[in-house]
Amino acid sequence: MEGRKVVAWAAKDTSGIPSPYSFTLRKTGPEDVVFKVLYCGMDHTDLHQMRNEIHSTNYPLVPGHEVVGEVVELGSEVKKFKIGDMVGVGCIVGSCGECLSCKSNIDQYCNNRIFTYNGIYKDGRPTQGGFSSAMVVHQRFAVRIPEKLAPEQAAPLLCPGVTAYSPLKQFNGCGHKVFKAGFLGLGGVGHLGVLIAKAMEHHVTVISTSEKKREEALEHLRADAFLVSSNVAEMEEAVNSLDYILDTVPAVHPLQSYLPLLRVDGKLLSVGVAPKPLQFDAVDMILGKKTITGSFIGSMEETQEILDFWAEKGLSSMIEVVKMDYVNKAFERMERNDVRYRFMVDVSGNNLE
Ligand SMILES: [Zn+2]
Ligand SMILES: [Zn+2]
Repeated sequence: MEGRKVVAWAAKDTSGIPSPYSFTLRKTGPEDVVFKVLYCGMDHTDLHQMRNEIHSTNYPLVPGHEVVGEVVELGSEVKKFKIGDMVGVGCIVGSCGECLSCKSNIDQYCNNRIFTYNGIYKDGRPTQGGFSSAMVVHQRFAVRIPEKLAPEQAAPLLCPGVTAYSPLKQFNGCGHKVFKAGFLGLGGVGHLGVLIAKAMEHHVTVISTSEKKREEALEHLRADAFLVSSNVAEMEEAVNSLDYILDTVPAVHPLQSYLPLLRVDGKLLSVGVAPKPLQFDAVDMILGKKTITGSFIGSMEETQEILDFWAEKGLSSMIEVVKMDYVNKAFERMERNDVRYRFMVDVSGNNLE
């Protein structure tokens, strides 16, 4: 059974260049929410998937997993939303619903999680992302966008925002203690992570391999300190000072340089996927009872929490809004890191229908 016809942009082969494409959504099920897409963030993952660089891509592929839109149709059993509500969809649109992770509401750790695009839905159809005039999603995988939050501001929170928030929330609201935070990498996750940690009143040090990001860190993101990892004296001085480090670097980097910065019981929170194994010195971990741990996006509850937190604290991130016909140029610019900090596609502004 077919649902509504939509107009989208899709990559059709390994060149990874999206162009107009039309298809039909699945028929709206009892717990489905159909929404008109307003904004969709652009992510490096989109580019890699469009080019078949991650795992086998099914073409045509409609990218986009930071999607915000307005509800236009509801399944008969949906009580959580009403027509006209602003909703968001992140990286995941399905899970098995039966494993321990699903039962604990951490669907992102379900081995049968269904990704928002380039996945196979329960009806056997390919999932397609947010570069589309409309989307259909099971209500479990939609979050509510707070009224105070502009939709284009909400979109980055659905992927990089919750990726930073999920590991950081354990340090939120712990009494009088001011946590000392370190951040490795200032991409999408690092940038939002610094803003979140500052809003949690942590003392934030951005650690970088060069001086290039100093102004960005201190002036624009209002970090408290900036540390250049090649500066031996500065690194020496920072030994045993941090409660945690959020490591967002998606490349091989020497953990043995950073673990000594953690105090006893400190945590290195890894969220950046390096293409090759990382190295560290076990002595650094043992003698300081330090933890190296990982985290993957966040749960639906945490996604709702970061949206509410962001709205309540009145935060905003830097985005560049572009039209759909600019996406190829935008992907090119994103690839050379020529964007602060995220491209946001104004999907509905293109009159796709
Ligand atoms: Zn599961
Ligand atoms: Zn993303």
